[in-house]
Amino acid sequence: MKKAAPQTRLAHAGRRLACKGGRPVNPPVVRASTILFDSVEDLLAVHSHRLDPEFVSYGRNGTETSFSLEHAVAELEGGAGCVAVGSGLAAITVAVLSQIKQGDHLLVADSVYAPTRKLCDGLLTRFGVETTYYDPLIGAGIADLVRANTRVIFLEAPGSLTFEIQDVPAITKVAREAGVTTIMDNTWATPLFFQPLAHGVDISVHAGTKYVVGHSDAMLGLVIANEAQHDAVRQQAQDLGHGASPDDAWLGLRGLRTMAVRLAQHQTNALQVAQWLQGRPEVARVLYPALPSDPGHAIWKRDFHGASGLMGVELHPVGMESVADLLEGLDYFGMGYSWGGYESLAIPTFPAKLRSAVPWDAAGPLLRLHIGLEDPADLIADLEAGFHRLRQRAAAE
Ligand SMILES: *Cc1c(COP(=O)(O)O)cnc(C)c1O
Repeated sequence: MKKAAPQTRLAHAGRRLACKGGRPVNPPVVRASTILFDSVEDLLAVHSHRLDPEFVSYGRNGTETSFSLEHAVAELEGGAGCVAVGSGLAAITVAVLSQIKQGDHLLVADSVYAPTRKLCDGLLTRFGVETTYYDPLIGAGIADLVRANTRVIFLEAPGSLTFEIQDVPAITKVAREAGVTTIMDNTWATPLFFQPLAHGVDISVHAGTKYVVGHSDAMLGLVIANEAQHDAVRQQAQDLGHGASPDDAWLGLRGLRTMAVRLAQHQTNALQVAQWLQGRPEVARVLYPALPSDPGHAIWKRDFHGASGLMGVELHPVGMESVADLLEGLDYFGMGYSWGGYESLAIPTFPAKLRSAVPWDAAGPLLRLHIGLEDPADLIADLEAGFHRLRQRAAAE
């Protein structure tokens, strides 16, 4: 049979349930610490099944609920397996720590999610691992930065806050030739809009908290690995005692079922808002790879299947008080961290403090918008009124 389309797999993956008689559509939430066995032989078999993604041994290592989610996500992203953990940041930590030891060197995109940078500059530095940040537009030029002790290249595309698209195949080709593991944060695109493993990446990580859960009500991390790395990743998660809570894993499974329809709508709405923003006199630049004017558009079009609802908006120079007047008066955009839920969000961001390889030197302030599932006409009207407040305040400054 032909391999099912992603939408079909979203509806059906991870729903197997081993029981007799009829069964519910969805796997139940299985909450557990202790798992009981009927024989000493079965009890002791736990030790030889530690890394078996289907073997229920102890609550911390997962139950049917998290296994169902892992199964579904591994299938969607074409991995040998997936490990569900308690947050996106835990997924990043597990993936990186599964690969490195003291004395190793790491190459990390300069536009990486800020807590990933903090992990490298803090914990990893303390444990004798050195990080070099690279220009996200470096492509095959990354070969010049690879050292004898380089173990990992960590990619994220588009970049957090600044949305640079990386040439993933060019970078993974260099990594493969040099025997370096590649890890990619694929949160923005989701498994639907980019497939890291098909582009040569070894380990893909997601903040499932965002579009997988999709409703801003659970924390979840997902690590998808190829055959060579899967056991190392699962072992690392177990060593750190990381696992997704059964309730949050269940919310992730629920979110998956509608992810394709949600993402299609986020994309339609976001493109409409982005195009409108491009025509505004207050806006210097919209950072969104689906726009033909975006510097990453050609590579995005070559490698990605779509764009999600998150974008950057660089304003012409104006004071933070005016930005606050814009944001604080919005009716439909909330101000808060995270994104990927059904609702719209708007916050100011400050990438200049987070860059070391390529300075961020935009003259005006930068906003991050998450475009939700509201009617885009209402969102545009809301932003239009916000720009009016911004102009009034700026004129009074
Ligand atoms: C939010 C986010 C994370 C972290 O996810 P949490 O679940 O909040 O820990 C990781 N990477 C990216 C790109 C994110 O936006």
